Amino acid sequence: MDIKFLGTGGAFDTDYLNSAAVLNFRGIHLLIDCGFTVFPALVQKNLVQKVDHIILTHLHNDHCGSLPNLLLYKSIIEKAPKPIIFYASEQFKQQLCLLLEIQLKEPDKYAEFVPLENFEGIGCIDTYGKHSEGLQTYAYIFEEDEERFVYSGDLAKPEVLFDRLQRMTQKRTSVFHDITFSPENTGHTYYKKLLPYLNGVDMYGYHCDPTKSPLDNPIRLVFFQQDMMA
Ligand SMILES: [Zn+2]
Ligand SMILES: [Zn+2]
Repeated sequence: MDIKFLGTGGAFDTDYLNSAAVLNFRGIHLLIDCGFTVFPALVQKNLVQKVDHIILTHLHNDHCGSLPNLLLYKSIIEKAPKPIIFYASEQFKQQLCLLLEIQLKEPDKYAEFVPLENFEGIGCIDTYGKHSEGLQTYAYIFEEDEERFVYSGDLAKPEVLFDRLQRMTQKRTSVFHDITFSPENTGHTYYKKLLPYLNGVDMYGYHCDPTKSPLDNPIRLVFFQQDMMA
């Protein structure tokens, strides 16, 4: 598995672009999230053509804001086959389609919607309400061979994610987790909350301004991992 981030910032850390990544695994190029800076970043990095599958953690604009641009580009400019959008629940698919319908009229013309369970290798953790009250969010677990990648999405309460991991078979695991350095930021995971979970996994923080990281933060930030940046 190979992951390349297109940005690692939080919603307002526009200098670091919206958090999103292209994951190369099981023969597909999966775009994880498509916030408002992602389409331009894909173009700039010459990666638009590669993206053939898409999955979203939730529908905040910094995670889905340029999805219509991407779908229109693939259809009109690239004339590429429709990308596949995985969805974890019917309700989430309906929310996403509602959002797309205003801009695309018939989203089915631009993307193929496929239930996540139809694709092997992606586990889903329902994190409803654990980032923002009443908001549907998901974390995902990607598995290929002897390797496991975990992508938290926006998640202020990481317990649910690590509970699940602790019940899974042991495997080399990289956890990409949203992180905040401000205890007042209750929509994201304060870095000290992640400290109990560092054992046995490679943890990387994202969705932050990396310059705000305090000296006592032991968690590596994706932003500083050159091999993880697109
Ligand atoms: Zn966000
Ligand atoms: Zn969010």
